[in-house]
Amino acid sequence: MMEYVKSKVRDVMDFPQKGIVFKDLTTVFKDPRALHIIGWDLSQLYRDKGVTKVVGIESRGFIGGSILAFELGAGFVPARKPGKLPADTVSCSYDKEYGKDTIEIHRDAITPDDIVVIHDDVLATGGTMAAVYNLVKSMNPKKIYVNFIIELGALNGRAAMPADAEVTSLIKY
Ligand code: AMP
Repeated sequence: MMEYVKSKVRDVMDFPQKGIVFKDLTTVFKDPRALHIIGWDLSQLYRDKGVTKVVGIESRGFIGGSILAFELGAGFVPARKPGKLPADTVSCSYDKEYGKDTIEIHRDAITPDDIVVIHDDVLATGGTMAAVYNLVKSMNPKKIYVNFIIELGALNGRAAMPADAEVTSLIKY
């Protein structure tokens, strides 16, 4: 099944800049069978864990994150780039390859009663996920899980994940 999904991932050379091999998941999401497998397999990872919220990271994490939330009967929370969320936010800045970036979540999005899965499509260096993890952690939920569809092993993003994060991914390269 996962081999079928893998066959639908498109490698785009030199995007968004030279030297990067971009793992394009739009070719997975547009394929009904691949999308169904992704939704099912993601949800199987968290079926009996009492998950109450799924946090999806802008913008590609919104797709799998929404499906996962729906499948688990959980709520969905967007983590967004600065200035996009309308109400009061908490934010975290982090280092990127070139310069800094910031990510935000609504201050009232997560409570201490929540069990949270944070989802993004691809684990690369892990900088973005680590920042969102810190944000979610600052809201003191009961438990935080971290999930990706694809993990790029060569970039060693796992090393950037906090020691107490339980990380899963469906496809490893
Ligand atoms: P990271 O380096 O893990 O902080 O990744 C930053 C964002 O860019 C994440 O949302 C990743 O999903 C995305 N990203 C980074 N590198 C790639 C890649 N080679 N293919 C697809 N997405 C990527």
